[in-house]
Amino acid sequence: MRNVLSLVVLAISLAGPMPLHAADRLKALIVDGQNNHAVWPTTTRMMKAYLEQTGLFSVEIATAAPQGTDPNFQPEFSHYAVVVSNFGHGAAAWPRSTQLAFEQFVRGGGGFVVIHAADNSFPEWAEYNEMIGLGGWGGRNEKDGPYVYVNDKGEVVRDDSPGNGGNHGPQIEFPIVVRDARHPIVHGMPLEWMHARDELYDKLRGPAKNMQILATAESQITGRHEPMILIVQYGKGRVFHTPMGHAEYSQECVGFITTLQRGTEWAATGNVTIPVPDDFPTAQKSSSRRFTAP
Ligand SMILES: [Zn+2]
Repeated sequence: MRNVLSLVVLAISLAGPMPLHAADRLKALIVDGQNNHAVWPTTTRMMKAYLEQTGLFSVEIATAAPQGTDPNFQPEFSHYAVVVSNFGHGAAAWPRSTQLAFEQFVRGGGGFVVIHAADNSFPEWAEYNEMIGLGGWGGRNEKDGPYVYVNDKGEVVRDDSPGNGGNHGPQIEFPIVVRDARHPIVHGMPLEWMHARDELYDKLRGPAKNMQILATAESQITGRHEPMILIVQYGKGRVFHTPMGHAEYSQECVGFITTLQRGTEWAATGNVTIPVPDDFPTAQKSSSRRFTAP
């Protein structure tokens, strides 16, 4: 009997950490529906799968109508620990009541995750710009705040000189440089790791209040280190923002997947328990997992 029991214990321990029971999982909501990136229905499915693979999250999706302000887009944000935006450039404004409910949600301690073109959305919504810290396109320029980058000495520069916010060069693989290895989102990652092919956003501008840059990448356009993993404190809420994630091959990067999983856990709870996986990219070599729909 004891042998049977120890076999059972062994089998469980070999299977890795037990996923949480559904009722104990963190509730995450992906919001989407309008994005200049036509791949968005796929990337929503990918991000849902990546979060659920951790065993920590149960994920629901709220999709707005494809055009114009959708009066029925009224998610119950308060039912969730964290909201992930897969909206993009040119998305119509949310109904005012939805904007206010979302501001209240984040200010009151809700988590918010901003992926790639979600930082292009809603240039006219002042509180949204404060939550995301930095954004691009949509007429963003010096009126919206400084262009923020990291110089060769590792210092954060807030450049108030006039200019449009948001730009990128051709899609390439590029190294991500960790700037604060103590922070739980990037703790234990190699200090430099190769990201799979993606757009490298540069010249993002915004209020950049209560913002910390956790990782950067050197742009071949600006010659500067542009923020690639950043966090913002908005009221009691935690915001995790990455400009990475242009296409499905960008999101198949194990660095992107791990950053999304850990950043979302941190936004939801303030802690990270998800480990850095064995197939994480190195400084020399990117690493991708081919996505197959679950
Ligand atoms: Zn893009």
